[in-house]
Amino acid sequence: MTSTFTLINPATAQPIREIARADVAQTDAAIARAVIAQRAWGSLAPVARADALRAFARVVEAHVEELAQLEVRNSGHPIGSARWEASHVAQVLNFYAGAPERLSGQQIPVAGGLDVTFHEPYGVVGIIVPWNFPMTIASWGFAPALAAGNAVVLKPAELTPLTAIRLGELALDAGLPEGLFTVITGSGSVVGQRFVSHPDVRKVVFTGSTSVGTDVAAGCARELKPVTLELGGKSANIVFADADLEKAAAAAPGAVFDNAGQDCCARSRILVERSVYDRFLELLEPAVQAWRVGDPADEGTDMGPLISASHRSTVAGFLDGANVAFRGAAPEGDGFWFAPTVVLADRADRIAREEVFGPVVAVLPFDDEADAIGLANDTAYGLAGSIWTENLGRAVRVSRGVKSGVLSVNSHSSVRYWTPFGGMKASGLGRELGPDAAEHFTETKNVFFATDA
Ligand code: NAP
Ligand code: MG
Repeated sequence: MTSTFTLINPATAQPIREIARADVAQTDAAIARAVIAQRAWGSLAPVARADALRAFARVVEAHVEELAQLEVRNSGHPIGSARWEASHVAQVLNFYAGAPERLSGQQIPVAGGLDVTFHEPYGVVGIIVPWNFPMTIASWGFAPALAAGNAVVLKPAELTPLTAIRLGELALDAGLPEGLFTVITGSGSVVGQRFVSHPDVRKVVFTGSTSVGTDVAAGCARELKPVTLELGGKSANIVFADADLEKAAAAAPGAVFDNAGQDCCARSRILVERSVYDRFLELLEPAVQAWRVGDPADEGTDMGPLISASHRSTVAGFLDGANVAFRGAAPEGDGFWFAPTVVLADRADRIAREEVFGPVVAVLPFDDEADAIGLANDTAYGLAGSIWTENLGRAVRVSRGVKSGVLSVNSHSSVRYWTPFGGMKASGLGRELGPDAAEHFTETKNVFFATDA
């Protein structure tokens, strides 16, 4: 018998519906169907796979509003963000629909014949998705994996499966073959672990915490299975005295409080050059007060609730003994609300070192450029970061010096589907998105054809 899991609307704390939890046998059955579907899909003409993915993209485009409303209810994302996320899924599909016809191999000069390489699909790819950006992160895996000729089994986070389930249905509506892209709901320790241990899942894509990701990688190592990991972060927003301080302060709340700070790229440490530290905090306070926390269904909302009651108590625990400079506002009452919080921190403080994954930012002063780079790198993580300066040479030096996978100068952008994304150090392994992502879902095969008569 299948057990169920109750979904909760994080803005109201009210139940939404029950979701089935797949067991190992059901997971194995989906993987077996994927093996069969992949054989046909992988041997289609490239243009046929391209057309199928474009059709999927068009169906997603026609359902942006429905997907966005599901994310508002299930995840508490503000409606404006949720619409952006749903449109992003369609754009990711459209972008990787261009990949099947561009997966060119090489022709390598070898005497006595013809040597060529092929990009062969792995077969079945298992994708494990976290709850913070349920549909965008899912699409970063399934779109390039399908484009490269693989079948996909995808496990959404138990807390936030609704948009992934709907995307699975929309794939069928768009004409993708049965079994090619299957969304399997259930727990990480059952369904997710089965992706790791099942011999017919030939590659795993995991996004989530560094601790679970490390276990997933260890499990994949035992099966000699490639794995891509997108993990946590403690990214620095570095503000130099020569920056446009007004602009840097105005942009800082969005860089850490977007999605209530439940963002692996959140700039959760603001490092400020000591000579402008007081001035920057004066400018930051009104920007934080202006950050609108409230009903995610409201068009004017910047930030909704945290994902769950237990996550809210974890986030609150980070404020024990912390030196709070100021806080924004948040609604009272039901829902897992948490007011944006700015903390003045010392380098050894827990709040300056561990990922909070909530709307809490630690502000720390630094002395000079070398100190800024050292402090930015004084973390186990290396996902994202921002550098604010009007000095071009400094921007180049610091962006080369910070050990992170995704940096921006005088901006906080991290994610564009056509540029690579991923972390260094404890933030992950491998890269998603960008021009090469479909190729990452293939293995290179080299074939030599002798031409001797
Ligand atoms: P998590 O606990 O690591 O869960 C992530 C996913 O893994 C969920 O689907 C989860 O299933 C599944 N899982 C749990 N245990 C598993 C196991 N033993 N084997 C296989 N799968 C397993 O992380 P989370 O709490 O959902 O997300 C928050 C964390 O993810 C943060 O640390 C954040 O930084 C990180 N994150 C990173 C990125 C990035 O791109 N770098 C993006 C988003 C989030 P359940 O449904 O059972 O929980
Ligand atoms: Mg978890």
